[in-house]
Amino acid sequence: MRWSSPWLVLFALSAAKSGVEEQPSPDKLEETMRVLSGEVPLEGQPLRSRNIHHPDHPRARAWLRSRLEGIEGLVVWEEPFEAEGRAGLGNLIAELPGAQPDRPMILVGAHLDSTASRTDGWDPTVDEAPGADDDASGVAAVLEIARLLAPETLASTVRFVLFDAEEEGLIGSEIHAAAYDAGEIALMLSLDPIGHNPGGAGYLWISFDPRWPSAAEAVVSSGERLQTPLVMQPVDGSLLGANSQRSDHAPFWSAGHPALHLASFPQPPDYHQVTDTLDVVDVAFTASVAALVRAHVRDLAEPMPDVAPRASTPERGGCGG
Ligand SMILES: [Zn+2]
Repeated sequence: MRWSSPWLVLFALSAAKSGVEEQPSPDKLEETMRVLSGEVPLEGQPLRSRNIHHPDHPRARAWLRSRLEGIEGLVVWEEPFEAEGRAGLGNLIAELPGAQPDRPMILVGAHLDSTASRTDGWDPTVDEAPGADDDASGVAAVLEIARLLAPETLASTVRFVLFDAEEEGLIGSEIHAAAYDAGEIALMLSLDPIGHNPGGAGYLWISFDPRWPSAAEAVVSSGERLQTPLVMQPVDGSLLGANSQRSDHAPFWSAGHPALHLASFPQPPDYHQVTDTLDVVDVAFTASVAALVRAHVRDLAEPMPDVAPRASTPERGGCGG
């Protein structure tokens, strides 16, 4: 399932069509997902869970921060908070400063925490929650998109955000969304999860708020230009009831910011189970979603000619600038 070969061929063809440009690497995505889901050790010890109540959560967060800091050109900081009696939580933010800082920003996000709350008798403080699909797939894609975009000079600022405590009720994204003023965000994209591809069908759900219907259509247009193998399905979030609120885009909608929820479809049976391990993830599918999001962010952020200067270090006082 992980390496459905027809899908890999489609992905390779799609990458080749877009010229010599480097595409998201399935190997790099898989390496990240292996560490996050505990399949390989991190400094000698596997990450058994990224749940906020588990002792491995701080190690996961620290590693992700170091991954973001390892990408040249990004300015990285944390947005710390406490929740459910736990200190030491917080969103991780990495900014690629735009050459025209007055333009509205683009946010690409996924959540760094995990859960296995649908597993009988699961104890978040001791039991595992590999969360390979949900949402290590999204986190791996955010890191890979950041790596590929960082060498470019874009007109708009792009922020890569790894939200904490999503599984506890969108706590990190509530805090982050509240930091922006009206008009400050051109688009926020939540990638959550983007690893499940049953039968190689390639369905990608793009849930939009009808206040900004063209946001989803614009992603489809980017995908068509890219000749993506994905089957992109815009879905009107206002018709989904509570299901429309199940990821980090929701607080942005509530705060009046354009946002989209990108997710693989249908939801896997391993959702929020200890069985959400790497063998339920189709890494080539995740790579295709990363390629689509990278292309769309570029379409929105507008690459500048090579001679354009990059803006200096952004203000760090608050997320909203
Ligand atoms: Zn999730």
